[in-house]
Amino acid sequence: MGIFATLAALAGRCLLPQTCAHCRQDLAARWPQSLCPDCSRGLAACEPPYCLRCCEPMSAGRLLCRSCAGRPFACRLIRAAFFYRGPMPALIHGFKYRGRKDAARAAGRWMARHLCRFPELAGAEALVAVPLHWRKLRQRGYNQAEILAEALGAEAGLPVLNLLKRTVSTRPQWDLDRDSRLLNLSGAFAARPQARNRRLLLIDDVCTSGTSLEECGRALRRAGAAEVNAFVLARQTLFAGAPPPGK
Ligand SMILES: [Zn+2]
Ligand SMILES: [Zn+2]
Repeated sequence: MGIFATLAALAGRCLLPQTCAHCRQDLAARWPQSLCPDCSRGLAACEPPYCLRCCEPMSAGRLLCRSCAGRPFACRLIRAAFFYRGPMPALIHGFKYRGRKDAARAAGRWMARHLCRFPELAGAEALVAVPLHWRKLRQRGYNQAEILAEALGAEAGLPVLNLLKRTVSTRPQWDLDRDSRLLNLSGAFAARPQARNRRLLLIDDVCTSGTSLEECGRALRRAGAAEVNAFVLARQTLFAGAPPPGK
């Protein structure tokens, strides 16, 4: 961000009332959330039926989606607080590209409230944020996954450990199919030896294919982690033809 944009953003934060990260209407003074009450009600909690491993929405009656069936994963389970729809994409865009760190902190607190819905994630000793490459970190000034992890950890009483780093800059993945994504990310993360024998919970903002989480899981398991699961703010649906989550 250039110096003028930074100053404008600072001035805006001091002089203007905070706005809803989705519909951008002004929020009441001291309103503790980054979404207005209407938009908050539009958030879709991630609820079954979904794939029991990766939370991909599925029709009821099936246990695993076609990516997860029949093979083991370094990242054992992926769970999400919300589905990536309604006000969620704008909220995430806000804290990724519009400097809304407040929205990321609020979202981390929501994640803490939703974590208890997933007893299968209990037993984690520490949280580990999926790292950003240093170049992106320099552009953005912060890692949104780290803000989520810190806010979640403070509420849930779990420490956040800095156990992962990115080793190479990967090209954007949006235009790659799943196999190319795995290839592109292969070896992109390295884990510190302090991961040994720990039960860890990876934290990220969005899970689309689960590829980054799996790569992080592999690095942590290579370093001796006893178990790796993941908890993300929002689950995006990978297969265009997937049915909408039931109700
Ligand atoms: Zn709103
Ligand atoms: Zn799955």
